[in-house]
Formats: sequence, structure tokens, C-alpha cells
Amino acid sequence: MALELAAVSKVHPGSPPVTALRSVSIRIGTGDMAAVTGPSGSGKSTLLAIAGLLERPTSGTVRVAGIAAGALPDRQAAGLRGGRIGFVFQQFFLIPGLSAADNVACGLLYQGVPVAARRRAAAAALDRVGLSGRARHRPGELSGGECQRVAIARALAAGPAIILADEPTGSLDSASGAAIMALLAELNAGGATIVVVTHNAQIARAMPRVIELRDGRVVRDGPPGRQPGGAVPDPGVPGPAAPGAIARGMT
Ligand code: ADP
Ligand code: MG
Repeated sequence: MALELAAVSKVHPGSPPVTALRSVSIRIGTGDMAAVTGPSGSGKSTLLAIAGLLERPTSGTVRVAGIAAGALPDRQAAGLRGGRIGFVFQQFFLIPGLSAADNVACGLLYQGVPVAARRRAAAAALDRVGLSGRARHRPGELSGGECQRVAIARALAAGPAIILADEPTGSLDSASGAAIMALLAELNAGGATIVVVTHNAQIARAMPRVIELRDGRVVRDGPPGRQPGGAVPDPGVPGPAAPGAIARGMT
């Protein structure tokens, strides 16, 4: 099992305190791919941050690759995160003054990887995302889709088996977004475990598993429904052909 959250709750302190997650339990198998959906404020980013050991839960347990993270001191939790988990965010968080290759290599600085090995790993990761030809370009010379590929390469460079992506297509046009989703699906086919937060219903429908949050709770977890809005059609009722389904089939 790549990721296991058991009865995870998160309360952000403050006045009043904000409960972002309420007893969330999910298991993501090694090599699985899943979407996390839900309206803004439903707890998607908090879920990803806790699953990725960036934040600790208020209660409940988190396991990464079978290792209970709650028992680990911060430094060991960071080590577990660094070796196993790569993050991708809506805002690419690339350093403007560095080339694509150096941005990717940068991700390995804190792992104590020597410079020559960092360069090799960066070149290999850029190759995996189809950007070998852009290695010397800076972010300002790349399209949004290419910048996100660099960010994915940076996430891959340390060789993590788990990629957690928070709205990775959120600032891209639909064609670039579709290409990024295709890339993530390809990495998943190559063995990576992938969890993608998205509020894009079309993207979620294309995923094998959709975990839907409402107000910090999991309200649905399974294969995507066929109807817009997340309603799962009743398999026992044949019903008339839905016009929406026909229209979608043609797009
Ligand atoms: P989503 O990603 O689905 O939009 P978030 O996980 O970002 O939702 O937020 C869930 C809830 O927790 C929201 O009500 C948000 O305002 C609150 N929240 C998130 N981070 C913090 C924080 N650091 N401090 C206080 N409240 C927070
Ligand atoms: Mg969010």
C-alpha cells in the first residue's frame, strides 16, 4: 500500500478553528492512480499535504509505503517524504533565473546528491517528460505546459514512486492540461502511484478512481460516475439514452 490515511482529521487553529478534514480514511495502492475532487474549501489540498507528510494531522494516522509517519520525528518524516514522494502544484514554483535542467537538479540539492549525479538525474527526468530539447531554456522562455513538465521532472528526479499533484492543470489551457494528464497517466503506466487533486469534472471522469470530498469528508470513493455532477447512474434502471451521454460521446 503506497498511502494509507486512517480516521485523519485536521483542525487549523485560530478563532474560530477551521476543521479541514473529518475522519478521512483512504488507501491508495502501489501503482494506483486516483483523483481527489470536491468544491473549493472541501479539504483537497489539506488531504494531499497530510498524505504527503507536508502537514501533520490533528488526529488519525498516515502511512507511507507501510511506514507510520506519526511516530517519526520531523527530520525522519522529511526523509521519508523526500525519497518517496514528489509534489506538483498549480503554480509551477520554478526559479526564474535557472534553466529547466537546473530547476530539476535543484530538487536534489537537499538530498545530498553530488553535482554530476544531479545533472544526470535532471537530464533523465527531463527526457521522461519529453523536454530534452528545452533543458537550457529558462521558465520565461517556456510555455505553461512546458513549465509544468519541468515541475513534474523535478518531482521525478529523486526517483519517487508517489506523485501528488494539486490542481496541476489549473493554470493551463485545456489542450496543455490534457497533455499534462496524459503524461501523468503514462508515468502511472510506468509504475508510479499518482494522486491528482482537480475540480475539473472532465479530468476526474477520465480517472480510474475518484475520491470526492465535501466539507472535509469523503462522500464518494470509486470509479467515476457517468453523469455530470457526480451522480452515479442506477445500474438496475436501463432508462432512456441520456442526451448528455450522447453529446459527450461525440466530443
Ligand atoms: P481545497 O483545496 O479543497 O480548496 P483546503 O484544503 O485548501 O481546501 O482548505 C480546507 C479548509 O481549511 C478551508 O476552509 C480553508 O480555508 C481551511 N484552511 C486551509 N489551510 C488553512 C490554514 N493554514 N489555516 C487555517 N485554515 C486553513
Ligand atoms: Mg486546494
